Amino acid sequence: MDKRVRVRFAPSPTGGLHLGGVRTVLYNYLFARQHNGDFILRIEDTDQTRFVKGAEEYIYECLLWCGLIPDESTVKGGPFAPYRQSERKASYGAYARQLVASGHAYYAFDTPADLEEMRSKHRVDEHSTVQYDRTTRKHMRNSLTLPVDEVKSLLEAGTPHVIRIKMPENETIVCHDMIRGEIHFDSNLVDDKVLLKADGMPTYHLAVVVDDYLMKITHAFRGEEWLPSAPVHLLLWDYLGWKEDMPKWAHLPLILKPDGNGKLSKRDGDRLGFPVFAMNWYDPAKNETTTGFRELGFMPQAFVNMLAMLGWNDGTGQEIFSLDELVQKFSIERVHKGGAKFDFEKAKWFNNQYIQLTDNETLATLALPYIQQHGITPAPDVLLKVIALIKDRCTLLSDFWAQGQFFFQTPEAIDLPAIKEKWNDNKKLFFADWVTHLQQVTEWIDTTIEASVTDYLTKYSLKKGDIMLPLRIMLVGGKFGPGVFHIAEIIGKEETIKRIETALSSL
Ligand code: GLU
Repeated sequence: MDKRVRVRFAPSPTGGLHLGGVRTVLYNYLFARQHNGDFILRIEDTDQTRFVKGAEEYIYECLLWCGLIPDESTVKGGPFAPYRQSERKASYGAYARQLVASGHAYYAFDTPADLEEMRSKHRVDEHSTVQYDRTTRKHMRNSLTLPVDEVKSLLEAGTPHVIRIKMPENETIVCHDMIRGEIHFDSNLVDDKVLLKADGMPTYHLAVVVDDYLMKITHAFRGEEWLPSAPVHLLLWDYLGWKEDMPKWAHLPLILKPDGNGKLSKRDGDRLGFPVFAMNWYDPAKNETTTGFRELGFMPQAFVNMLAMLGWNDGTGQEIFSLDELVQKFSIERVHKGGAKFDFEKAKWFNNQYIQLTDNETLATLALPYIQQHGITPAPDVLLKVIALIKDRCTLLSDFWAQGQFFFQTPEAIDLPAIKEKWNDNKKLFFADWVTHLQQVTEWIDTTIEASVTDYLTKYSLKKGDIMLPLRIMLVGGKFGPGVFHIAEIIGKEETIKRIETALSSL
């Protein structure tokens, strides 16, 4: 019988969650749901020097916002707890020592000064990096070069040491990748990575393999940037005797900058004029907040749909998929090998589509916080009417404020110069006359307001086209917005009269 599918997202809590990270979550999630399997969130926090306070909670909140909730996690627990690697510290040492015993790893006693000396000695020029590898290891203080007795006494004396993998010479390591097919690695080019650090903490390389094994992970999907580490991981699966249980790999394509020039990195946040993080990220070290898709006004469903298409499609040209549909149709084999260029305009297009597909009641709830940010809470029935009128103009949820603020408050400034371009005394007389009459319009709805204008137009020999733009600017402040009589209806009789009179007094 096939094993139950178990996949994992294994972030290091070092900062904001990049959209590439959320896409990795999504592909894992889709695969798990599709196979009735489990989706696990494991926090890889073994590198305490890179640990950032709040990052773990932030990651979980991002997953909640996207609706990609893990079945097992630090928050939910699960049969393989703990899900935070720092809490599993005690379990890794034995595996590292097993590797030493089987000859696949060794103790290294080199001090930072020794390492620095080795690097400067072997450096050919200032740009070259010198690795601790099959060549240089021969000149270092490790259990491959020191006499057995000396190693024993160094260990007994508690001399600080690490455990390194002993990379084999002249071997080709083959990775079978579900997206990329067979990938060949030359073992001679890979360094002897540290597996266990001096403080007993594993490095990522050891921890990821041990935990994928112990947590019975069947498929490991991660970003392409991890491909260079794959040969180390493959060897560890083999050397630890777990080859049969090794997960199937898939290295997901990079998300590239819009011009295709390089990876869209965490550091690009805000710099390119769009977010790279799912949600606002506050960096405590820099005391800086980087904008997130959520705060900018993206709907999570649109964000998720957009991410699904960054590196995958179903071959039919369809672009809008609900999460359930994605679960049905997604296939890891159809994920592209090449990097996917990020296109912010396209991302906004997705959000616009989702806004149009969402019912007004739901939109009212979603848009309200963006309006309340400005200290205004509209009456629910007014908000609903406004939503219906302006939703087709809104791309981001925050646009409900930008496009609709004049419904909720008197515009701060009126574009008088735009009115004055085609203004004359006759129009002024018309407005002054009509606005007095408006008091008598009893049934205050767009059609009656519109009808009330007819007699006055005739009286002043004006056409409707002559007064629509000035009226709009008086009510809205500028040349935008939905139907002007609808606007008058919603803002109400008193406010309409007030806005016209105020504008007239300056014309
Ligand atoms: N801890 C790694 C990260 O931060 C996980 C890579 C993997 O999935 O193996 O992305």
